[in-house]
Amino acid sequence: MLTGKNAIVTGSTSGIGLGIAAALAGAGANVMLNGFGDPAQIEKERQAFADKYKVKVGYSGADMSKPSEIAKMVEDATKLLGSVDILVNNAGIQFVANIEDFPDDKWHQIIAINLSAAFFACKAALPGMKAKKWGRVINIASAHGLVASAGKAAYVAAKHGIVGLTKVTALETANNGITANAICPGWVLTPLVQKQIEDNAKKEGISVDKAKEMLLSEKQPMLEFSTPEHLGALSVFLCSDNAATITGIALPMDGGWTSQ
Ligand code: NAD
Repeated sequence: MLTGKNAIVTGSTSGIGLGIAAALAGAGANVMLNGFGDPAQIEKERQAFADKYKVKVGYSGADMSKPSEIAKMVEDATKLLGSVDILVNNAGIQFVANIEDFPDDKWHQIIAINLSAAFFACKAALPGMKAKKWGRVINIASAHGLVASAGKAAYVAAKHGIVGLTKVTALETANNGITANAICPGWVLTPLVQKQIEDNAKKEGISVDKAKEMLLSEKQPMLEFSTPEHLGALSVFLCSDNAATITGIALPMDGGWTSQ
């Protein structure tokens, strides 16, 4: 379905980004991977993707907190793949503390990676999409783009911000064959959430399994995690021709979290 399309998925060395990159490659798109990790492991993953899906797969080690590296990532992807037709802004980090205890550097880092990076990536990629009159921007927001939780000031501000950025992107590209949408996942069991579960278990003096159960039951009526594969399949749909008029939305995939 996406044969001949070229995608960048930021933060695709782990979790949701990896699931989305696999789904896009599985649908035939060439992919530029991005994210941190052990270089040898990343190269193994890159080669495995190329072998399994028979598509071109590149890797950019760009740091999403650095605008110049984001611009270079888009330039490198354009050189390697020929264009950037699909941009998935997914890289993200978390930090939990009350506002009065929230470290300034963590605030700046979360806003830079979870929000500003999407702006800089769109700024670099949209001219190419407009020239080709086809493009898809998918911003991975969160249930925290729609509702808040205590202790997550920077994350909630960034995720609400990226929902707003998605709407502006949709309006500015409405007649250019481009759509821009945000996906708002609830809990997905990835390293980012596993760390929160382990921190909670330590803080409460309970087992990791119990902490996992508590995490789900606190927020998510459907006591099931979504998976990177679910997010990947939804992303492929948003890239399809059938989704050509879906734009500017913030679509929850959250087991009922934001229905409450
Ligand atoms: P993860 O920790 O498994 O993966 C994060 C990815 O981002 C990794 O590849 C990491 O290397 C990369 N990354 C981090 N900082 C980076 C930087 N400065 N530059 C480049 N890459 C960087 O996390 P995940 O759970 O897969 O989260 C992915 C996205 O989904 C995030 O935006 C997160 O906020 C969002 N999200 C996650 C959940 C969840 O329950 N896991 C729920 C809602 C939204």
